[in-house]
Amino acid sequence: MTTSATPTPEPASAPTPPTPPAAPDGSGVSVTGLGREFRMGRGRVVALDDVNLATAEGSFLTLIGPSGCGKSTVLRILADLDAPTAGTALVHGEAPSVARRAHHLGIAFQDAALLPWRSVEANIRLPLEVSGLKAERKVISDLIALVGLTGFERARPAQLSGGMRQRVAIARALVVQPKVLLLDEPFGALDDMTRQRLNFELLRIWSERSTTTILVTHSIPEAVILSDTVAVMTARPGRIAARVDIDLPRPRTPEMLRTARFHELHDELSTLLFAGTGPTAGEAG
Ligand code: ADP
Ligand code: MG
Repeated sequence: MTTSATPTPEPASAPTPPTPPAAPDGSGVSVTGLGREFRMGRGRVVALDDVNLATAEGSFLTLIGPSGCGKSTVLRILADLDAPTAGTALVHGEAPSVARRAHHLGIAFQDAALLPWRSVEANIRLPLEVSGLKAERKVISDLIALVGLTGFERARPAQLSGGMRQRVAIARALVVQPKVLLLDEPFGALDDMTRQRLNFELLRIWSERSTTTILVTHSIPEAVILSDTVAVMTARPGRIAARVDIDLPRPRTPEMLRTARFHELHDELSTLLFAGTGPTAGEAG
């Protein structure tokens, strides 16, 4: 059952952008009328209101938006770590709870959250162990090679740089060979140069695995260089304000960061992002 109630009164004249139509077929991720309210004391916070998204299988979608607009909440719902109060979310046609149990989801968040006493190899194996699945040596060593950590199999997290720890987190997310990869600001804590290098690493991994990917970031350059589509969210309550298709050719290269088209897309997103951070419907009046 879905509910459509939004208790927060909203002025009819609020400049709410229209929800864009769901263009792609939704064979990757499909989110329809998604809402999430949180109880706060005696009141309620509307975190998400009528969020609609659809991506094609194998595509790369990025969510950007002001802090607190509900990006992580969308990802947590897709990951089955939270439940919506309205609407539905599907990953490859499955409810998130079904997809999670079938190991169709891979998740990596900003804080790599590696187990400090375990080696790189043992951290990457962890999701398989937890699910009672067999960890084949070759699968693990291929993954370690894929994320560029060959030679560091036995290292402990404390012996690695921040960028290396995020590579481990991504390898761990991929170990179940998920259909959908969910990344919440995975490079948010890294310096710009490391971040840029890992962006191109992620592109290579994504193109080798063709895993449907949803990324949350606050970096516009990262959004442009990685994505097929960037969805821009409004400040709370989070809605999709705009969807921008990134028409840079693939494979993407570092040289593209200096092209006119890259800068046009960057400026377009930055305008949309700042337009969405002003006073919003929920706070008007
Ligand atoms: P973002 O990732 O875009 O910064 P979040 O999805 O983390 O935003 O949060 C969206 C809104 O929902 C914020 O206003 C936040 O305070 C609120 N929120 C998120 N989780 C909870 C929770 N468990 N309880 C109450 N409010 C929450
Ligand atoms: Mg967040």
